[in-house]
Amino acid sequence: FPSPLPCCKNCFHLGMAFTLQERQILGIHGLLPPKVETQDTQAMRFQNNLKKMTDPLEKYIYLMGIQERNERLFYRVLMEDIEELMPIVYTPTVGLACTQYGHIFRRPKGLFISIRDRGHVRSILDNWPESNVAVIVVTDGERILGLGDLGVYGMGIPVGKLCLYTACAGIRPERCLPVVIDVGTDNETLLHDPLYMGLYQKRDRSQAYDDLIDEFMEAVVEKYGQDTLIQFEDFGNHNAFRFLRKYREKYCTFNDDIQGTASVALAGLLAAQRAVGKPITEHRVLFLGAGEAALGIANLIVMAMTESGVSQDEAQNKIWMYDKYGLLVKVNANQEAFVHDSPGDVQSFLDAVNTIKPTAIIGVAGAGRLFTHDVIKAMGTLNERPIIFALSNPTNKAECTAEDAYKLTDGRCLFASGSPFGPVTLSDGRVLTPGQGNNAYIFPGVALAVIVSGVRHISDTVFLEAAKTLAEQLTDKELAEGRLYPPLSNIREVSVQMAVKVMEYVYAKGMAFRYPEPLDKNGFVRATVWNTQYDSFLPDTYDWPGVNFSPK
Ligand code: NAP
Ligand code: MN
Repeated sequence: FPSPLPCCKNCFHLGMAFTLQERQILGIHGLLPPKVETQDTQAMRFQNNLKKMTDPLEKYIYLMGIQERNERLFYRVLMEDIEELMPIVYTPTVGLACTQYGHIFRRPKGLFISIRDRGHVRSILDNWPESNVAVIVVTDGERILGLGDLGVYGMGIPVGKLCLYTACAGIRPERCLPVVIDVGTDNETLLHDPLYMGLYQKRDRSQAYDDLIDEFMEAVVEKYGQDTLIQFEDFGNHNAFRFLRKYREKYCTFNDDIQGTASVALAGLLAAQRAVGKPITEHRVLFLGAGEAALGIANLIVMAMTESGVSQDEAQNKIWMYDKYGLLVKVNANQEAFVHDSPGDVQSFLDAVNTIKPTAIIGVAGAGRLFTHDVIKAMGTLNERPIIFALSNPTNKAECTAEDAYKLTDGRCLFASGSPFGPVTLSDGRVLTPGQGNNAYIFPGVALAVIVSGVRHISDTVFLEAAKTLAEQLTDKELAEGRLYPPLSNIREVSVQMAVKVMEYVYAKGMAFRYPEPLDKNGFVRATVWNTQYDSFLPDTYDWPGVNFSPK
């Protein structure tokens, strides 16, 4: 666990950056090579080592090691090269790391709470060494990315998400707490894996599970206060919706897979409509998948459409869903809004495209390459500028590649994916840069605003606002390059600007409870963000000039 001071004489969190005086005072002088290094030199060594590695998982392990040993150096290097390193600490490599978690394990990170701990959650929280936690990312590991049930191996996800809270929005690392709730796993491979690290039992789906989550929520608020932001992440579909409904008015909470994804996808659509030249209300959207992401996105599109003047019914009629069982399957109450009368004989997703004639298709099924060549070509025939979002993670679950999407539509499509794809060169020499429609563009900025404003409940309109500010930050030049989101290299500025806009919104709407209201919100947000410069370990020493303690 990273602490600012060496916990023993074997660990030196600043490495060779300790000054001579610090080494002497801390009693570690001589235990380091004589040279006092700058962070620049340390970063150079770190980057050189990374460059030598070709295996992404090896890079992940190396990066996580630096995070433990020298947190500021880790964040500095991550922030400087976020485009290159986000795919390591986050999707897709984090997915691989989760599947291998027990095998590549070095040191624990985050807090593990199991169903056997019921009645003792508060004492587990009390074991966490930080007292000032502001954000928690919690998962029960049931639906890790598009990889399914990974049980406690899912810890990689809260850890990775929280790295982005710090790297993208400057939220102090010690204010972030990753949590895995272990209620067992239904993954047979893991139940037979001698290196698995959770309870060897099937998922508890009884009342005890609900009670445990209730107890967890209460313990968090009791320990860290009612403003603590609790992000639900990668829960199974059924629980994700249930818990969101159950807790959203009682706690400061959101579900990133439903609401964060919705916001980033809507931002992509808003950006795309600038290229298409049609208002959002004239789009027809067909989803592949009808789960957390699909319903979240669909509901936010409806909000955006109704804000532009159409009725809710009209808006819902423009949105279709195609799931495992085909078009319009009425599975549960959440989907009812997007279940329509049959438009005719639809046997496949391709049939659905040809019948519904969508302007946009959005893939969030987590089931691999289901946007076939024929589907992409059909979208290209139906639309001058088809919108094709392949949002499923990790990369091998994406509904199609960027290359297929661009090449099969002669470069006309507006493409975004959840995991990154590189730029694509067309036969005519044009280079198109796909957008990464990943909620990493949303949750850090929204969370920063929520934390600094003292928001108690996060309404969906906050995510609508975030989507609009994200879309606005895309320049025309970037749009012309094929991008639908600002470059990741700029994500820190994007998140800060989003936080400022969201902050203005929540204060204007009476949703913010931190008083007095900061007048200069831009300055206020910028002053709170954490930076990676080393602090001195020397105590604050000074003189009292002219003081004379001799009795007169
Ligand atoms: P989910 O709630 O489990 O939903 C998956 C949906 O896809 C379900 O409706 C499922 O139907 C359907 N489906 C599964 N296989 C299908 C198939 N072969 N054909 C058509 N539909 C199929 O999961 P989710 O949270 O929405 O996540 C889905 C994917 O989106 C994951 O890969 C995840 O990584 C990705 N995602 C991306 C982002 C991002 O930022 N880009 C954010 C969140 C999620 P059944 O219910 O009948 O199985
Ligand atoms: Mn997720």
